[in-house]
Amino acid sequence: MLKIENLHVRVDDKPILKGINLDIKPGEVHAIMGPNGSGKSTLSHVLAGRAGYEVTAGTVTYLGRNLLEMKPEERAREGVFLAFQYPVEIAGVSNIYLLKAALNAIRKHKGLSEVDAMDFLKLVKEKIKAVNLDEQFLYRGVNEGFSGGEKKRNEILQMAVLEPSLCILDETDSGLDIDALRLVAEGVNSLRSPDRSFILVTHYQRLLNYIKPDYVHVLAHGRIAKSGDADLALELEKKGYGWVDQLISAGA
Ligand code: ADP
Ligand code: MG
Ligand code: MG
Repeated sequence: MLKIENLHVRVDDKPILKGINLDIKPGEVHAIMGPNGSGKSTLSHVLAGRAGYEVTAGTVTYLGRNLLEMKPEERAREGVFLAFQYPVEIAGVSNIYLLKAALNAIRKHKGLSEVDAMDFLKLVKEKIKAVNLDEQFLYRGVNEGFSGGEKKRNEILQMAVLEPSLCILDETDSGLDIDALRLVAEGVNSLRSPDRSFILVTHYQRLLNYIKPDYVHVLAHGRIAKSGDADLALELEKKGYGWVDQLISAGA
């Protein structure tokens, strides 16, 4: 699904990522953890194709294609979902309009016709129930006045409707209450499938109480300092990130 090899990234001439390697197979959930400032969000932004990140070495291959050469909207059409792609409020553009446009762009790319208006409404109404959002949210401006929890529900709704192949979630929001965290987890768990992969960037171990990742990677100083299975997250919670620094200085 996604192969990252020796990825080096600079921001403002400052090296941030210093040789990231990751191999993500279909169906897998990879959690990326690490202390603040270790480069987690930089990694998700580079995968999203955000401007301002200079790749100085390495490759990223998505379904056999060079991801780094694809424009952000092309990545989305090809099935890469980035939860923070529309983090800002867009006044005057309703949620349902954006969702339909995004779905149609994906369908067009696959050579399918535009979704029938009634079928689309039926689909969205069915999915919105699952995320426990009121139907009125569909007609609100994108993220306009949404609480943190509502934004999260809306993201899960977008994922459920667009059915991406690779979902990248950067859970930077420390303000999420336990209900919102559970909802993100339930959304991810219900969307897990043998042909869909997840990269779950998280600052907080507690999210992983609800989502059992196949792999956990600890980022430190722009490198993956340690990889393991779900137990690594538990070990980290016990020992703290200082433990990872010790491993690095010991050359492990
Ligand atoms: P994390 O998400 O793990 O907390 P980030 O990827 O946000 O880490 O940041 C990694 C490092 O890159 C930090 O030292 C941060 O200060 C720096 N950085 C991130 N974005 C920028 C930017 N736009 N300009 C300068 N430095 C940046
Ligand atoms: Mg940070
Ligand atoms: Mg971050």
